[in-house]
Amino acid sequence: MMISYNEFFRNFSNLRDEVNRVAVENRRDPADIQILPVTKTHPKDAIEYAERAGLLSVGENRVQEAAEKSAELPDSSVTWELIGHLQSNKAAQAVATFGRIQSVDSVKLARRLDRFAGEADLILPCLIQVNTGEDPRKFGFAAEGLEKEFEEMLTFENLSIDGFMTVAPLEGGNEVARKAFARLRELAESLRQRFGKELPELSMGMSGDMAEAIAEGATLIRVGSALFGSRT
Ligand SMILES: *Cc1c(COP(=O)(O)O)cnc(C)c1O
Repeated sequence: MMISYNEFFRNFSNLRDEVNRVAVENRRDPADIQILPVTKTHPKDAIEYAERAGLLSVGENRVQEAAEKSAELPDSSVTWELIGHLQSNKAAQAVATFGRIQSVDSVKLARRLDRFAGEADLILPCLIQVNTGEDPRKFGFAAEGLEKEFEEMLTFENLSIDGFMTVAPLEGGNEVARKAFARLRELAESLRQRFGKELPELSMGMSGDMAEAIAEGATLIRVGSALFGSRT
């Protein structure tokens, strides 16, 4: 059951307040932290709510699901962002559906995305997903040795690499999550220096660990249940 718009908007206001509070606590400008509403498993109403509240992008973790919802919302101008693992054989459909891929987790996938973006005559914004928490159940590049793969991905002319994304380990709680976020921040800093690139985006933190992520420099938090209620 989908919650009402009013309930969503209350959740959104509370979340915004919380983001502001945590940002100020960490001497950060709240304007530097964007909320990405994660609408996976929810009906198209979730996307309409987000748009009505002034949010410009939504996060989905499956290509098919996002493509179907997008088809149901022909007048929507929302940007769809992929935050889940993408199989290489779905790269073409992903390029056609998403305005940004946050879950680039292999050079092979990046190469295919580059090819299809080129064929579609567009530059595809991407984030590089890194498994900084070293959770064997999570996708993402290993932080160790990423430099070489990163250098190769920078040569893909139809990809615009905006920064990095991580998902905290399932276990270990917020302390372990915070370490994973700190490691992503450090990795980004070192790759920025090494390659002289801006790489501004740090997509990290979800409903349960956004405070830790903001403390460690998140520019984008991906929030589902705190906005739309639990997924059944
Ligand atoms: C589902 C999901 C989220 C949102 O999780 P919540 O706990 O509902 O906020 C964030 N990031 C990724 C990669 C997800 O798959």
